[in-house]
Amino acid sequence: MPSIEFKHVDFSYVDNKESYLALEDINARIEDGEFLCLIGHSGCGKSTMLNLLAGLSMPSKGEVLIDGKPVEGPGLDRSIVFQNYSLFPWQTAVKNVMFTLMKAHKELTKDEARERALELLDQVNVKSAANRYPFQLSGGMRQRVAIARALAIDAPVMLLDEPFGALDPMIRGKLQKLLVDLWQQSCCKTAVFVTHDIDEALILADRIAFMGQRHIIKTFDLPRDRVRDASSLYDNKEVRAIKDEVLELFEQTAQDEEDE
Ligand code: ADP
Ligand code: MG
Repeated sequence: MPSIEFKHVDFSYVDNKESYLALEDINARIEDGEFLCLIGHSGCGKSTMLNLLAGLSMPSKGEVLIDGKPVEGPGLDRSIVFQNYSLFPWQTAVKNVMFTLMKAHKELTKDEARERALELLDQVNVKSAANRYPFQLSGGMRQRVAIARALAIDAPVMLLDEPFGALDPMIRGKLQKLLVDLWQQSCCKTAVFVTHDIDEALILADRIAFMGQRHIIKTFDLPRDRVRDASSLYDNKEVRAIKDEVLELFEQTAQDEEDE
């Protein structure tokens, strides 16, 4: 599985000659098979970092490297799940997954792709909704399909931008568990997961990178042997200490957000 590196990365949004510096001198390394959660207040630059990794935008300065090679655009080595808009609204759940499968695995016939798509939908517990359109699915089901679609590519890198942000807590908990299980079964793809929810980050991450405006302030390594489950997570003293420190950072950086 590949490693990811940000080397002295700046990124500016340019609109109508106005330029806004969204990332400044980002230096970070995400190891092979590591699950990194990027956390921080809204507007600090999390999605911008993910978009650079996805190849949807290019750094204004510096380099973003995957396995030592600069990211030059989107590619089948990375799967992406966003909070919204991940699915084609005009295609059923199974067709959404089939489309991606056939794009990623050109050798598949349509029947083979359908069969594999149904297996993937089954894996994320949404097979019964295979023939429904996205608008006929609940938010949780839509994100299950989006995960199935991301799995269809079988890419070594997974990029997820607040994929569970719009879901209610019960459903969110179930999907976090599903993701932990899938990730462990896949024998650990390299994952970057954006969230502003500390509990979610503590369940999912091997490492948490806390962002203030435009840069990473601090990273936290989590005990890998902890139970990745909301009910027993905080039995672990080390996890509780990290939570306290991250909450403190949220407090400290709240002002930055108001100053913007
Ligand atoms: P986050 O995902 O952490 O909430 P973003 O990466 O989306 O933050 O945005 C970082 C900063 O860049 C924010 O201040 C945001 O307003 C600004 N920004 C995001 N997208 C654009 C854009 N297309 N044009 C101009 N500014 C943008
Ligand atoms: Mg965002």
